[in-house]
Amino acid sequence: MSPIIKPRRQTRQVKFGTVPVGGGAPVSIQSMTNTRTDDVAATLAQIARLSDRGCEIVRVAVPGAAAVSALPDIVAGSTVPVVADVHFDHRLAIAAAEAGVRALRINPGNIGGAERTGEVVAAAAERGIPIRIGVNAGSLEKDILERDGHPTAAGLAESAVRGVELMDGLGFADLVVSIKSSDVAMTVEANRIFASQTDVPLHIGITEAGTPAAGAARSGVGMGLLLAEGIGDTVRVSLAGPPEDEIPVARAILSSLGLRHGGVTVIACPTCGRTEIDVPGIAAEVESALAGVKTPLVVAVMGCAVNGPGEAREADIGAAGGGAKAVLFRKGEVVAKIDADTLIERLLEEARKLI
Ligand code: SF4
Repeated sequence: MSPIIKPRRQTRQVKFGTVPVGGGAPVSIQSMTNTRTDDVAATLAQIARLSDRGCEIVRVAVPGAAAVSALPDIVAGSTVPVVADVHFDHRLAIAAAEAGVRALRINPGNIGGAERTGEVVAAAAERGIPIRIGVNAGSLEKDILERDGHPTAAGLAESAVRGVELMDGLGFADLVVSIKSSDVAMTVEANRIFASQTDVPLHIGITEAGTPAAGAARSGVGMGLLLAEGIGDTVRVSLAGPPEDEIPVARAILSSLGLRHGGVTVIACPTCGRTEIDVPGIAAEVESALAGVKTPLVVAVMGCAVNGPGEAREADIGAAGGGAKAVLFRKGEVVAKIDADTLIERLLEEARKLI
């Protein structure tokens, strides 16, 4: 583990199907489909793409009866555990549990009060599946909002603790909590407060994080601060765009903190006036071609012979531009001088030898 990381917070462990969350399990990566859930083929195709990229738990929206009807086929066809995301109607949550999902995501604040929450909990307990309670700055309890005037970190944490107490009262411990806001500082502080008060695993993320570049940065800062403090058992990077794009960001955040080691890390130079090859294009193509690889591998794509060879040598495989030619390295050794236009092909060939 990286020396900048504090020991992981001790949390109880729950299982999303085959994926453990908390209790020392690796920080898992999740996402949410944006297909219509009742379109089974499209949803399964997206789940397969997410899973190929490294997503380990996938959530689907369950807005009505048509989505519930699709769930058995989605659960059966998915390679990763499926979580049903339900708001407002507790009957949908119960039906989703009966349809075989591996977990439920509800917000006790909008599912219809303690009695109905109790019915959802009973359905989850019967099937041995966990529940994630989601607390969001946009849907805080009225009394907390009236007291504080607006969402605050303390108010968010208090709402989450209330949710845990409600579940405790129902004898249900198979819980994960998420506390999210689009305000990075508020999210970080609310998670810190909650983490100091319970052993419930935390699903962390910045909600409505924004467009891909801004969202990736905001997620990296917010999640990075928490993860470096040992807080966070499972993560979701929320971006306005295809969910498939969230997974490389999540992987980069975790691997840059030394929390996950699998997968390919592509290092690319920022390019400058010396650049002699299409660094961004080559790096993007290599990253996408090797997205599903679990073997830890560092691939460097460098634009020229100034800093290029040095960095490329440190990587498992590297390339540095040099006019119409490029130098190819493997484990620090020059393998070949090749035509620059065959670079992608050769980098992938070398990578596959090491996988
Ligand atoms: S490696 Fe070369 S091309 Fe890339 S930024 Fe550095 S000097 Fe510029």
